[in-house]
Amino acid sequence: MSLDLDETQLLLRDNVRRFLQTEVVPLVQRHEAARTFPFQLMPKLAELGFLGGTLPEDQGGQGIDHPTWAVMMEELGYHWLSLRTMVNITNGSIHRLATQGTPEQKRRYLTPMMRGELRTCSGLTEPNVGSNIAGIQMRAELQGDEWVLNGRKLWITNGADAEVALIIARSFSPTCNGKLSCFIVDRRETPYDVRKLDTMVLRCTGTAELGFSDVRIPKENLVGVEGEALSATLKGLDAARVNIAMGAVGAAQAALDLSIAHVKQRQQFGRPIGSFQLVQKHIVDMTVRVEAARALGMRAAHALKAGKDVRQACSIAKLYATEAAHEVASMAVQVHGGLGYSEDYPVERIFRDTRGGMIPEGTTEIQTLIVGREILGINAIA
Ligand SMILES: Cc1cc2nc3c(=O)[nH]c(=O)nc-3n(C[C@H](O)[C@H](O)[C@H](O)COP(=O)(O)OP(=O)(O)OC[C@H]3O[C@@H](n4cnc5c(N)ncnc54)[C@H](O)[C@@H]3O)c2cc1C
Repeated sequence: MSLDLDETQLLLRDNVRRFLQTEVVPLVQRHEAARTFPFQLMPKLAELGFLGGTLPEDQGGQGIDHPTWAVMMEELGYHWLSLRTMVNITNGSIHRLATQGTPEQKRRYLTPMMRGELRTCSGLTEPNVGSNIAGIQMRAELQGDEWVLNGRKLWITNGADAEVALIIARSFSPTCNGKLSCFIVDRRETPYDVRKLDTMVLRCTGTAELGFSDVRIPKENLVGVEGEALSATLKGLDAARVNIAMGAVGAAQAALDLSIAHVKQRQQFGRPIGSFQLVQKHIVDMTVRVEAARALGMRAAHALKAGKDVRQACSIAKLYATEAAHEVASMAVQVHGGLGYSEDYPVERIFRDTRGGMIPEGTTEIQTLIVGREILGINAIA
């Protein structure tokens, strides 16, 4: 298996990079300060294949394979981790609707999402339910032609601005007694409570807590087979872990590039600081971590493409790359001296945002235990 990029991937990467440098980078500082997201970018991202691009062409996608997608995720992470996060959240809803939605759900929700015209979020986590998603408490009860939703969802990316939420809840109906199901809640028709949360990481991703108190949605808003949302959710996690890993690789590469430029130019004691051995050690340690993380991420992307040895490869990639990216960002702050703490300079943001990779899509500890389970065949998670 070669991890080198082929000509098509290089062309695509350059095209995406040009777009990000000219149309995204100039917006980042302003939106970071305001903690807002430039949603006007979404239709342009759709044209570039970022929304649903991995779906087959007969489902409206571009048939982009996992390694190529990984390259695209690295580019997003390099330029702005909040953007990578928002793209992935949108794709989470897109993939669920593409694979399980009814024709009417696809028409009303999937098509505008894939055009970047409909804001969406995905709600699993609750105040009392995080790593153990099987313990979800939110309820959906079928009453006549409506589902009645009660419960709360926490740390929901894009929850503040989403027009449509895909919510996982325990469903109770004549055919289901409390298994997990997925529901479309269209906030434009059936409003629910939204409380925006200010977080240390990924400040432009509209993180929110959502509250549902007797929220009534049409019976038709059930997505997929009732009671089977847990397995559908778990199935998507491997690919999501590679996405987050490759975004982390991109952010770490950005921190490294900024550091290399800085240590060559910054002078102390009459010499560039890059001429001091201890500063060089930081640069080398950063480089080794970036290259190792990229290799593991691409290896996992190839495993996904081949459909072989997926679970362990994806968890190793997520575990290593997210931890390594934050270590790299921390070293980047160190070699920048006081400048590294300044909000006017990107390494400060990269340091905060790379901290955001170790918790979602399964924490570092959960990834460790998944890998342990794969190696030993013994489950230490629950
Ligand atoms: C940036 C960001 C975006 C997010 N976006 C979304 C979103 O869009 N939708 C959504 O539904 N959720 C989202 N989440 C929530 C995320 O999925 C959860 O935070 C995550 O699953 C962990 O749950 P928790 O925060 O409740 O921590 P907990 O599960 O309470 O974990 C706390 C600590 O205990 C450890 N721990 C827990 N169980 C075990 C175990 N069995 N063995 C060892 N250690 C264990 C964890 O590793 C962690 O260190 C987001 C979170 C973040 C940080």
